[in-house]
Amino acid sequence: MTQLLRSRAELRAVLTSLPRPVGLVPTMGWLHDGHRSLIRRARSENRTVVATIFVNPRQFNRAEDFSKYPRNEARDVQICAEEGVNIVWAPPVDEVFVPGFDTTISVGAIAMPLEGAARPGHFDGVATVVAILFGLVGAEHAYFGQKDAQQVMVIRQMARDLALPTQVIACATVREPDGLALSSRNVHLRPAERAAAPVLRQALLAAAAQWRLGERSGEALRTMLRSTLAGVPLAQPEYVSVADALTLGELDRIEGTALLSLAVRFGSTRLIDNELLEWPG
Ligand code: AMP
Repeated sequence: MTQLLRSRAELRAVLTSLPRPVGLVPTMGWLHDGHRSLIRRARSENRTVVATIFVNPRQFNRAEDFSKYPRNEARDVQICAEEGVNIVWAPPVDEVFVPGFDTTISVGAIAMPLEGAARPGHFDGVATVVAILFGLVGAEHAYFGQKDAQQVMVIRQMARDLALPTQVIACATVREPDGLALSSRNVHLRPAERAAAPVLRQALLAAAAQWRLGERSGEALRTMLRSTLAGVPLAQPEYVSVADALTLGELDRIEGTALLSLAVRFGSTRLIDNELLEWPG
C-alpha cells in the first residue's frame, strides 16, 4: 500500500514501523519512465521505498521556471503506487523549509562549472534540499539519474563531506526511441522543437564516435559538439563541455575518463544531456 504523507512528523512516524533497508528516490514530480527506472532499482534493492515529490523553489534561479514547472500530483501518486512505492512524501514548502529555516549547503569546486555556472544558486538549492531529505528519511540508499551527472557528483561530495550515511546510487539515463533523454521539461517543447531536440544526443554520439576512433583533443570534441548543434537552427547552445569525469575541469587532452556534456535551449525550454567516455574505452 502506498501512503501519501505531507508533514515531517508523519514521515518520521511512519518510517519507524517500516522494514529496512530504505531506498529514497527524490523527485520534483511530473513522473516519467526515467523516474520509474529509479523507483524500480530502489524497489529491487530495498524493503521500503520512499519517493518524494517536491518542486524545490530554492533550486530555480528564475522564478518563472519554478512557476511553470509541470505538476500533476494525482498522476504521480498513481505511478508510485504502480511501482510499489511505500511512502510518497509530497510536502508543502514550509514542511521542507520550516519557519525560520536559515541553512544553506554550498558544495565547492565540483558545483562551480557547467550547471553551476549557468544557473547561479542552483546547486546550493539542490544540496540543501537533498541534505534535508537525507536527514529526514535516513535511507540506506538514495537513487539519482545520470542524466543530471553533475548533480550526482555534487550530492556525493556533500554526503561524503558531511558523513551522511546514505549511499548515493547513479542510474542510467532513460531515453525516448529517438534518443532524447526523458525530462519533465520536454512537455514544454513545441512540435518543431521536439523534432529538433534529439540533436543533443546526436552531438554527444558524434563526439563519442570521434573519441573511439582515437581523437584525444578536448577542443576537437567540443568543436564536434558545437558543429552538430549548429546544424539545427532551433538549437541554441548554452555550453558544450569535455571535462575530466572526476573534477569536471575542461580538458585539453583526454587521458582518463571524460564527461561530455551540453546544455541547449529550444525557445524557452532548456535541455541538458551527457555521455561518459570511459577510459581506456
Ligand atoms: P527531477 O524530477 O527532474 O528532479 O528528477 C528526479 C530524479 O530523476 C533525478 O535524480 C534525475 O536525475 C532523475 N532523472 C530525470 N530524468 C531522467 C532520465 N531520463 N533517466 C534517468 N533518470 C532521470
